[in-house]
Amino acid sequence: MAEHVLDLSARFIDSGRVDSPPNRVTHELSEIADGVALVEAFSHVVVVSTDDGLVAFDSSGPASGGRVLDSLRQWNSEPFHTLVYTHGHIDHVGGSSAFAQDAESSGRPVPRVIGHENLSPRLRRYRATNGYNKVINARQFGGLPASTLSGANSNKPFVPEGTLEPVVDYRHTMTDEIGGIEFQLHHALGETDDHTWTWIPQHRMISAGDQFIWNFPNCGNPQKVQRYPLEWAASLREMASTDVELFVPAHGLPISGHERIISCLNTVASTLEQLVDDVVSAMNSGATLNDIVLTVGVAPEILELPYLRPLYDEPEFVIRNIWRLYGGWWDGKPSRLKPASDVALAVELVELAGGVSILAERAQALAEDGQLRMACHLIDMAADAAPNSVEVHEIRTRIYLTRRSAESSLMAKGIFESAANESREAAGQEFEPRKPKLSLEE
Ligand SMILES: [Zn+2]
Repeated sequence: MAEHVLDLSARFIDSGRVDSPPNRVTHELSEIADGVALVEAFSHVVVVSTDDGLVAFDSSGPASGGRVLDSLRQWNSEPFHTLVYTHGHIDHVGGSSAFAQDAESSGRPVPRVIGHENLSPRLRRYRATNGYNKVINARQFGGLPASTLSGANSNKPFVPEGTLEPVVDYRHTMTDEIGGIEFQLHHALGETDDHTWTWIPQHRMISAGDQFIWNFPNCGNPQKVQRYPLEWAASLREMASTDVELFVPAHGLPISGHERIISCLNTVASTLEQLVDDVVSAMNSGATLNDIVLTVGVAPEILELPYLRPLYDEPEFVIRNIWRLYGGWWDGKPSRLKPASDVALAVELVELAGGVSILAERAQALAEDGQLRMACHLIDMAADAAPNSVEVHEIRTRIYLTRRSAESSLMAKGIFESAANESREAAGQEFEPRKPKLSLEE
């Protein structure tokens, strides 16, 4: 028999070792308490049974909402009373049309949807930045350049049609009693500005959304809006101050046992607090962003913890996000306040070097020597100076593929792979767009 999801998480946390991916997209259901079920997907859906029907946290994504419901319906056929969105990311709200169809097909009312008051403005922003969101997701999850987005899928909206909007919102906290079960909703800043975590006293249970994801916190994402590390940490400390016995994040494994849960929550909180502290102290002493990226970091043993591995986001990106939050976009280097164009700078350097091949060959030598950061600067300049050179783009493809393999985070891997594919395209090579990766694991 497969190991129960709560035994699996206990084993990983207690041993400090992970022997299978904790982020699973199986669409399978596990009962994790009496009347509480979890379906692991991208993202998870957790359901609490009440005397007035089911309360679901999140609807999973556009591609998985239907499959999640199939699993849930084998467990319980009661109507959905309420759907709580933990936040407005599409992998959490995009499956909601399947919940609407489930209700309509059985002649029941569509579930009431609750979300924080910032959630609907988020969906409006996604609609206003529809193309941008599709471009960054193609890059992050599929390693694809923007050019691949034309064609059949180009008109598909980022927020799927039929996504249910919240009909109840709240600002700080909200307590709701449904069918004899009390739900205490708490707003938190963190991964987003619209997070809801919920304390359910009868089950001594927390639904945490993405404030905990069994990966280094998604607090630095290079292509996305501001994240809030200190408020994030504060929300984890507040969760840790409850009598929690069952902790259910929207990605990764649910965790049981008070001591185990609070040790995980406090460790993630301390890691975020330490990063903010170190970045802000360096800013206070006049350091530039580049100085800070080179000197601030997270201890390697922390990054080996089963729930803090940098496989999705990573500390270097979080440091930049903290700089942006407490400072501004300028990195402190005077020439980059109002810089020359990338192409003009590259042409000048190519001329100084004595030709684009010299720059490209040097980039290749640096890459072979493992100096990938430097190699990428030089090969980007070579490509800027000679955008039609097949030789340059072939070298650039190889360098960025090597760079991709040397990285741990999905975000860095995706961006570097998309650079490689951009050069494959420029060199006239075919490339097979791979299916976007939906799991957070490599
Ligand atoms: Zn998520």
